[in-house]
Order: sequence, then C-alpha cells, then structure tokens
Amino acid sequence: MVTRASQPSVLSGSSIDPKDSLVIVSCYPDGLCDPSIPAWLANRGFDLGPAGFVRGCVRDVTCALNQAVRVFLASPKTWLLYVERDLQVGPICDPLLSAAEDLACVQYDVGIPGAWSHPLAFHTGMWRARRGVLEAIAPPWFLPEYSPDGTEVATCCCGHFARKATAAGFSIARAGQAGHRPKGTSHASPRWLAVVGA
Ligand SMILES: [Zn+2]
Repeated sequence: MVTRASQPSVLSGSSIDPKDSLVIVSCYPDGLCDPSIPAWLANRGFDLGPAGFVRGCVRDVTCALNQAVRVFLASPKTWLLYVERDLQVGPICDPLLSAAEDLACVQYDVGIPGAWSHPLAFHTGMWRARRGVLEAIAPPWFLPEYSPDGTEVATCCCGHFARKATAAGFSIARAGQAGHRPKGTSHASPRWLAVVGA
C-alpha cells in the first residue's frame, strides 16, 4: 500500500539507490537485531560494509534518530535508510524502496491504537529519506511533544519530524509493511543472533 500526501514534493522523487544509501540499524548497546534485517538488506543490494552501513547503539529513541541524521549528513550518500532492530523485514517492505516520494516509511504495529489513522502518519521503525529532506529541516529533527502540563506525550518524536517535513513541502509515502517483535521478547532468542556491522 502506498499512501501519498496531496502536496507535491519539492525534490524530484525516484526509487532509492541501494549503492548510494547509508543504512543505519538502531541496535541499542547490545548490537543485536532481528536476522531478517541484514538478510533483506544484502538481498536488496545494500552495502553492509563501513562505507554504507552504521550500527546505531543509542538506547534513547529520539537521540538515536537525531544522531542517525547527523551521521548521515556527514556522509556523502544521497539516501538514508533507517531500521529499528526489532522489525521483521522481507519482501513486504519492498514498496519502501520503489516509492517515488523523497520521504517514506513502512507501516508496522506501533502498539498504539490509531497510530496510522491519519493519512500522513509517519513512524520511524523503518523509513528512508533523500538527503534534501533532512537538509531542509532544522534540528532537532525528532522531538517528542508533551501536553501543556507535561503529563502526557501529545505527539511521538516522529510526528514532530513529519510536521516539519510537510511544512517544508515534502510529501510522505507510506509504502510497504513490516512485522514488529512483541515488546519483552527475550534477546537471548536465536532470532536475535544476527549482529550487523560487527
Ligand atoms: Zn512515532
């Protein structure tokens, strides 16, 4: 499924080029991820060597995302592809690579009812952006927003980013899907054995 925003993209969109991409897999400090991730990346032609791949090891989700953008912007690559360690990926993710928009994410179970109900909803389990999108947005790219009295998270850190991106004239594609490991799944499970970028 591809959901497109009504605004035209200010950059000419095209399919992501795996060889001109920096892949960042957010693994937390233990460095582990679901083994479907490196398998799919390799099958789709992404470079898992040091020039094309970075293993993120930051526990805080917002800091991990902002650091990923910083690292990407210091690289010479055109595309950033970001994947959280606990997504289960495969051919159902492929539409993410061919979507025409400069900014796109896959749909997965965020664990919050209604999280995808808005047509422009954007969440960061697995997403990719063209360099121009990230250059056009002032940091912090990602930031959770709270209710006025600070007792509730009003918008997840991805919503902040999506709002800035659409305000800058970019459209967001929701393209492809991914599975999501249930919270609390043991890291000692054999399915966590893959260590990418080690
Ligand atoms: Zn989110």
